[in-house]
Amino acid sequence: MPSEERFCKSCGKPFLPNKYRPNQTICSSLECQYQRQLDNMKKWREGNPNYFKYKESQDASWKSTCRERSLEWRKRHQEYLKLYREEHRDRHRTYMKDYMTEYRRRKKLAI
Ligand SMILES: [Zn+2]
Repeated sequence: MPSEERFCKSCGKPFLPNKYRPNQTICSSLECQYQRQLDNMKKWREGNPNYFKYKESQDASWKSTCRERSLEWRKRHQEYLKLYREEHRDRHRTYMKDYMTEYRRRKKLAI
């Protein structure tokens, strides 16, 4: 049986349904596939209106643990950044010193 042309539900353009998906109602263009995903998500949320609320109340303790962890991480990260900057500044200073020495040497040669 030859696959028959259909009109995409999303963009209205004619398309040939995938032979593995005979019930396809949306063409395979990126826009329409993306729209389809959004629609699926919306439908799923409408079907599970309390899912996120439920999760949030369930995860209240987990969330605070998470926040503590991220604060701890940020503190450690800032210490690391400070060390990194200090080290980097030293390196930059050495680099600039070498650069200026080289610059003066070249200038002297030029004269
Ligand atoms: Zn389409």
